[in-house]
Formats: sequence, structure tokens, C-alpha cells
Amino acid sequence: MVDRDSTVRSRLRRPTPARDRGPEEILTAILATVEELTAAAPRDGGVRAVGLAVTGIVDERRGMAVHSENVGWRNVPVRSRIERATGLPVGFGHDVRAGTLAEWRLGAGRGLEDLVFVPIGTGVSAGIIVQGRPLTGGGHAGEIGHVDVGHGEPCTCGGRGCVEAVASAAAIARRYAAVSGRPVSGARDVAERLVAGDAAARRVWTDATEALALALAWTSVVLAPQAILLGGGLARSGSVLFEPIRQALDGHLGMVRRPRLVPAALQDEAGLLGAALLAWETLEQAGTA
Ligand SMILES: [Zn+2]
Repeated sequence: MVDRDSTVRSRLRRPTPARDRGPEEILTAILATVEELTAAAPRDGGVRAVGLAVTGIVDERRGMAVHSENVGWRNVPVRSRIERATGLPVGFGHDVRAGTLAEWRLGAGRGLEDLVFVPIGTGVSAGIIVQGRPLTGGGHAGEIGHVDVGHGEPCTCGGRGCVEAVASAAAIARRYAAVSGRPVSGARDVAERLVAGDAAARRVWTDATEALALALAWTSVVLAPQAILLGGGLARSGSVLFEPIRQALDGHLGMVRRPRLVPAALQDEAGLLGAALLAWETLEQAGTA
């Protein structure tokens, strides 16, 4: 539950129901969460709107989850379903774009006109603000993780050579285990081994940072962002991630303006705050905020 000034009043965390229980189960879980928060809301004003951010291909304009693999949604009109069930206006969006909105309004991108937010987690994608407006492309904008950078390894999307297949946090951990024969708890663990001088970690890390730098170079020449905000768990690795990307990016960009490369500020609150901003925006557009 989030105030107009983006103060988080209370929070409720619920595990996502298992995918095999079907798309309806997830909607039911969302509605139960809304109900529980509404019941706990203070009497003055109560809950005014719902904000919801969803992964995958999301069409904000139509309020549609076009393809959300991890919750099993295909062409589900999520916004109207939740509006009907709750009787509340629903601000609806994509998780990374919602996070981008939050970083732009409240976090590391405050005051900028042009920025790109790249959370690196199980996947790699970008949220984009151009000339003071979010770029959505009907739900398809910013999929920078699925461009072939030539390494030839297969990707979950069915393609080969994708940025994401070597540079997501999940890929870094998986590739390190494959190259070294030693299990690892996650990408942060690979970063620690890199600092300790581990050759396998060096190789896997270099593949990842070079792929990311290439993706960010194309993004920079096309969109000319003032800053690129790196987020997700991997960004907490600090200079071990930022320095090689910064150097490679410098090499790629030549005469083109270099964006500032900065850590995102809101960590895993970005999606939550972004969804709340979408809810308030919906009320403003309806003239009832
Ligand atoms: Zn791919």
C-alpha cells in the first residue's frame, strides 16, 4: 500500500502460485492480495486504485498480458479482469517499464529526459525514457537481451548468440558451473571468485560484460540516453561489473556521446513503486486523484 508521495505504508508478500495451476490461479491470488490490503487500509479515503506490473510481453494500452511465460498468461485482459473484480481503477504495466518509471521519478534517473534502465537478473531487458516519455512499442520495446552478439550459445527464446544467454545473472552462474565443473550459488559468487583470481570466473565474466557493453553501445547510438542505470542483483557487484562495461562501451562509442553508467537506486522496490505510480497516474488521467 503506497501513498501519493510514494511512501510505502504497508506491504504484503505472497509467493506466485505454481505455473501448472493455471492462469486463473494467479488472478485469484492477486485479487486475494488486493482484498487483504484493502481490508487493512485506513478508513480515511481507503484504497483508491490498484497498480499491477507483469513480466513478459505486456501491452499497456490494451491492458493485456500478451505473453507472460512464468505465469502462463497468453492474451489475458488482466486490467479489465481486475477492474471488474475489485471495482477499482487499475494502473497496469510491464515490470521493467514500471521499474523504469520509478527510477526516473524517484531513483537514480530523477530529472533526466533520456535514460535507459537495465535490470540484470534471470533475464536482460531495458526500460526506456525518451524525451521525457516512456517508450513501449506496443509491449515490445527494450528487449535488448535477445540480440545475437555472435557467441553461438542457445537461448531460452529459441535463438542463438543472445546477450541474455551469456550475460544474465542466471547465465553467468550456469556457465561458470559448466566451465569450471564447480557449482556456484549465483552470479555474485562468480564475481567473488573473479576478484580472487579464478580463471574460469574471469572468462565467464568477460563474456558477460562484453555482451552487455555491445548491447548498451547499440542502445546508446540509437537513443542517446543521458544515463544508463544498471540494476538487479548483479549491479550490486559494483566496480567489478561497471568498470569493464564502461571501458568496453568507451571503445565502442567513438565520437558518440557517452552516457553516464550508474547503479539504479531502488533495488527490488522499483517494480512495487512503479506499479503504484501507474495506479496514481490512472487516477490523474481520470481526473479523480
Ligand atoms: Zn534470446
